[in-house]
Amino acid sequence: MKIRADPWLSLLAQSSGRNSLPATRNCSLPAATIADVALLEVRNLTKVFPLGESMLGGGAKGEVRAVDDVSLDIEAGETLGLVGESGSGKSTFGRLVLRLIEPSAGSIYFKGRNLLTASRSEMRRLRRDMQIIFQDPFGSLDPRLRVEDIISEPLVIHERMSRSTRRARTAELLDAVGLDKSVLRRFPHEFSGGQRQRIGIARALALRPKFIVADEPVSALDVSVGAQIVNLLAQLQREFGLTYLFISHSMPVVRYLATRIAVMYRGKIVEVGATEQITTGPQHPYTRSLLEATPEVVV
Ligand code: ADP
Ligand code: MG
Repeated sequence: MKIRADPWLSLLAQSSGRNSLPATRNCSLPAATIADVALLEVRNLTKVFPLGESMLGGGAKGEVRAVDDVSLDIEAGETLGLVGESGSGKSTFGRLVLRLIEPSAGSIYFKGRNLLTASRSEMRRLRRDMQIIFQDPFGSLDPRLRVEDIISEPLVIHERMSRSTRRARTAELLDAVGLDKSVLRRFPHEFSGGQRQRIGIARALALRPKFIVADEPVSALDVSVGAQIVNLLAQLQREFGLTYLFISHSMPVVRYLATRIAVMYRGKIVEVGATEQITTGPQHPYTRSLLEATPEVVV
């Protein structure tokens, strides 16, 4: 049986060969953007979901430890790739660190501040610096709003500015994600998946955040479209000095974008290290199985 090469590998290799990206992503950041103190510090983070009777059957009750005693740092300017199979707890972790859901135990420090004890007003301020890009570009945009309103909504909520300044900022954001100003008056359903994801990214960038959780941002897209979005994210990182927690079940995608890789298995981080180290000398059997599931490109 012939193993098909993973289309991601060849596409990403092609695009890095053109002028859009440097061959080695890890070298693209100036040293000054790497801080000594981690931007995000996660300690012993745990999330337990109760399981209802209906999920187990037979009147049994139980719980799922979706995230189980995870400690992890994310440095300013890096892309931490979080990889693992479906159900391993990646999305739960991503939502916890933005405090979109409350943990069962553990602590989260963002820019040295304890997110879990932050007051409402402090949390509101911190939220501006932390944004999320979702997997599903269809479900995550309000279908009743025009593109202009979708992108500028965070500005309306968080920033006092004149309508014309807001317009100008919205146009800048569109430009940054490679969309034309002419789309401002249109509705989400008029766009392809890749274009919708660009709109979602523009919205996430509106408040000039420092940290972005990208939760499987290309998993719902065709491979070639997804590759363009991955390249866009890399370009935006350089342009705006962003820090990413990039979640994916796909090792080739994570490997391409990430500075470091954390491997998640059943709620735990089983291995974390530099991308090169994880991909060439994996220590944990689960990491090896994830790498083996990714066939080499036959040139
Ligand atoms: P991944 O993103 O890696 O696919 P998730 O974080 O979505 O994994 O899920 C991890 C585990 O937690 C799964 O077993 C999932 O069923 C469970 N889970 C996630 N969210 C909830 C929830 N709101 N209620 C109950 N169980 C949940
Ligand atoms: Mg998920």
